[in-house]
Amino acid sequence: MGKPRVAFFDFASCEGCQLQVYNLEEDLLKVLDAVEVVAWREAMKGHSDDYDIAFVEGSILRQSDELRLRQIRRNAKILVALGACATIGGINNIKNFQEQEAVRQFVYGNKALDYETYPARPLKAVVPVDFEIHGCPITRKEFTTVLKALLLGKKPEIPNYPVCVECKMAQNICVFEKGMTCMGPVTRAGCEACCVTEGSICWGCRGLVDDPNIHAQVEVLAKYGLSVEDILRKFQLYADFSVIKDEQ
Ligand code: SF4
Ligand code: SF4
Ligand code: SF4
Repeated sequence: MGKPRVAFFDFASCEGCQLQVYNLEEDLLKVLDAVEVVAWREAMKGHSDDYDIAFVEGSILRQSDELRLRQIRRNAKILVALGACATIGGINNIKNFQEQEAVRQFVYGNKALDYETYPARPLKAVVPVDFEIHGCPITRKEFTTVLKALLLGKKPEIPNYPVCVECKMAQNICVFEKGMTCMGPVTRAGCEACCVTEGSICWGCRGLVDDPNIHAQVEVLAKYGLSVEDILRKFQLYADFSVIKDEQ
């Protein structure tokens, strides 16, 4: 039996998550030893539509994206969403809070009518997605963890607890103590709270924990007089599509 055939695809994105894979350094050689990459526009010239696993980066922004994504879904046995743009809509969701025609005019000017576009959405709003690798960008470690699990026929273990847990383990001072606000109580862990450790806040790039009202660090928010709903309203940078879709 040959190696599993892997393909990479991108939609609306900065391609930074694919770059993380490209930058695996010596681990990239191990990946290339374990799989056969048959399509990867960012890294190679060849292309085949015969693949087992598709890693798909980026958000869906237009009807033609949907058609292409559906074809990728038909071709792939396993489809993995790669990064925040693909898992939650990512920073592309910012446009969803604007008047769509104004956004189109701003970007394309007098050519606006030549370009189709609609509010950004993650892959799972269009096709079934088997697994998600979170973050903006993804971490190289999580990519290799997920790939290893898939190659072993196992379900990848993705954290379903808040960033606050990792933040406390990193012994950070909570930014609420400094008068700032933070998405950590409702955001899925797995990044070791790197942004807080580096002196910033959590912006929520890994998306929400499942059912934030149950799994959030509600006591952290309550201590500062906030609720889960307050924090979700406050942050729009990585506004999770699952939260904003009802408002569109
Ligand atoms: S999730 Fe972030 S790093 Fe990845 S493609 Fe989107 S914008 Fe770029
Ligand atoms: S709210 Fe933010 S800063 Fe405070 S513990 Fe949670 S992740 Fe860390
Ligand atoms: S701390 Fe928050 S914003 Fe930073 S990488 Fe982790 S989930 Fe993303």
